[in-house]
Amino acid sequence: MITINENFLKLQDSYLFVTIAEKVKEYQKKNPDKDIIKLGIGDITRPIPEKVAEAMKKAVDEMTNISTFRGYGPEIGYNFLKEKIIENDYKSKGINFENSEIFISDGIGTDIANIVDIFDVQNTVAITDPVYPAYLDTNVMSGRSGKFENGKYKGVTYLEVKEENNFVPQLPNEQIDMIYLCFPNNPTGTVISKEELTKWVNYARKNKSVILYDAAYEAYIQDENIPHSIYEIEGAKEVAIEFKSYSKSAGFTGIRCGYTVIPKELKGYTKKGESINLNKLWNRRQSTKTNGVSYITQRGAEAVYTKEAQQQIKENIEYYMNNTKNIKEGLEKVGLKTFGGENAPYVWLKVPDNKSSWEFFDELLENIGVVGTPGVGFGPSGEGYFRLTGFGTKENTEKAVSRIQKYYTN
Ligand code: PLP
Repeated sequence: MITINENFLKLQDSYLFVTIAEKVKEYQKKNPDKDIIKLGIGDITRPIPEKVAEAMKKAVDEMTNISTFRGYGPEIGYNFLKEKIIENDYKSKGINFENSEIFISDGIGTDIANIVDIFDVQNTVAITDPVYPAYLDTNVMSGRSGKFENGKYKGVTYLEVKEENNFVPQLPNEQIDMIYLCFPNNPTGTVISKEELTKWVNYARKNKSVILYDAAYEAYIQDENIPHSIYEIEGAKEVAIEFKSYSKSAGFTGIRCGYTVIPKELKGYTKKGESINLNKLWNRRQSTKTNGVSYITQRGAEAVYTKEAQQQIKENIEYYMNNTKNIKEGLEKVGLKTFGGENAPYVWLKVPDNKSSWEFFDELLENIGVVGTPGVGFGPSGEGYFRLTGFGTKENTEKAVSRIQKYYTN
């Protein structure tokens, strides 16, 4: 008899985006003439830079020629891309890495999901609440949680990020082995200062923990004092793995490419206390379980670092951040309270009049045809909040803001 991984049965169905889609569909059926504006999506809408497309086209042509054709590439990525990453994303900040510390992948969603393979199932896990759902679900699947009760998985530490703590997670009292941090944060759009991040690095050094640092939105940081990488913090190489993606910066959500950094200094331990290099474990895991990312994609990612592509990326980020600014300022003008949105493409809105996230969702949809994401969908501490994104078009964003303003001034 084939038995299954019963941890999958503990998982909660991801109702959030399905429920949103169903509610929108139902509304559209009842109101076929009403135009709906969606500011709930977490996907980008601007196209990739031309230089990236050119590089990919050239790589396709290389594939047609016997002298330049490429078959299987290195599982953990081509050095031509790793060198660009080290030079542009790290050396420019005074941080040094070797090629072997960078692992190219088909996006960090994959790496975040797979990284759990190299850690013992008995490790304790902490996530922020609310949170990007992948950290939690992948740990539930691999057996690092108990049952789901009262909105939370037993055995997982939820670090509340709320208005009361300025959306900065507080250090736990207990010893946690695996700590997931994401800054700039999805869904709250808030950031962490060097000082606060230093506390986490010091905690991890003291407790021999690992910080899994998701920097998917670092390109959106506007304030020069906010860290773009956890390795800007002294000692972080001993305790942190960093995930970085081309998805939200260079428009790669459909192309798929990102990278994970595992410094040589980073150690895990056997039960006997022997220290083991995590970089080696991940290298072994990736070399066995993946054949890497296509040559064409990696040539596209390499072109992200050209002057022309960097300019286009800057313009796209400005475009999204202008939308975000319009949302934030427009909503605050009519007395709504917002958080985030200054160094991230997400605005975290406090739902007015003590309504729930879903009540507010229905109210906006039914009265003004605006769709956002109920905060409670990202965790119990998201109840009473609502996420709006700057990833829509300028025109739609302006229209949505003006509808919300009218609704709250009438
Ligand atoms: N991490 C966060 C916080 C995200 O919001 C997303 C995508 O929305 C990802 C990771 C996934 O990134 P990728 O497209 O590189 O898989």
